[in-house]
Amino acid sequence: MTKILQFSDLHADSAKRQAVLNIAKSTNPSASFDLGDEIEAREFYPEVFSKINIPIPKEVIDDINRAKELNSEQELIKALQKHEATLAQLRQGVENAVIEQLKVEGSKLEEELYSRLKEINPVYGVLGNHDPYALKKFTPSVTYIDESDPVKVNDHSIAGVVNSDEFVSEKFLHLYPHLTRDINNKNVDEVSQHTGKSIDELLQNSAEYQRLHDKNFTIVASHKTVLPNSYGTGIAASKLAKEKGVKLNMCGHRHKGSVERIEGVLMVNSSPNIAYVVDIDDMTVDVYWISSDKEGFARNKFEKAA
Ligand SMILES: [Zn+2]
Repeated sequence: MTKILQFSDLHADSAKRQAVLNIAKSTNPSASFDLGDEIEAREFYPEVFSKINIPIPKEVIDDINRAKELNSEQELIKALQKHEATLAQLRQGVENAVIEQLKVEGSKLEEELYSRLKEINPVYGVLGNHDPYALKKFTPSVTYIDESDPVKVNDHSIAGVVNSDEFVSEKFLHLYPHLTRDINNKNVDEVSQHTGKSIDELLQNSAEYQRLHDKNFTIVASHKTVLPNSYGTGIAASKLAKEKGVKLNMCGHRHKGSVERIEGVLMVNSSPNIAYVVDIDDMTVDVYWISSDKEGFARNKFEKAA
């Protein structure tokens, strides 16, 4: 029996962190997998930004507005180039402020959950779309597998991937470099047209494909599912899952706990209210409610792999 605990999307809820810890204590899994979105980045952003006291020079605003009024991409590029140094300074200011905030949020997460979980078993993770890249720096108890080789849990080889994202505004993409490593299934045609490269070419050249195409694994841990869906999944990750004959995809993001079989692959999708303990030898799944009113109630084994 190789049990692993999977959870995701707790979004800075301390009570839920405690509930996850309790599940780990009572089930003693071989490893825990955190599939991302444990902090509430979008919530703290307005707060962070309101504290950033970096005046944008009037000349910069005027030049950019003029280009926008002319509706000219060329003029806009010219304006951005002209003020490159100032804009870089502003970006750095934003980044510093976000890192300051992450120091607080990430350290609390590390303290409340990860360091305690790690006393029980190894903690592996992938970042979610709410998690700025710098979160890794403040959560040392987690072994992030979204940039590394697959990890082994007993005989099972498990790869982590980060999926493309549709939410992060371009202005802040430099805080989320992990979200651009794969190609988003929502805009792949557009990218293909824009770059003049075929979809196949884009796929082969994507960082995710390069990293994993010569590795073996049968399980994928991801924030968004790598199985066919419409949620902006990275398509190189999907291609890899198919090529490798992946049998299990542990994922989160949708906030709808579910266990489904999609094209022969078991998809276990944790949510803010449901964590799972998956026996990856025989592919059975135990369900755990982690919302405060239901914690510990549902413990049904309800999925047996065919
Ligand atoms: Zn998400």
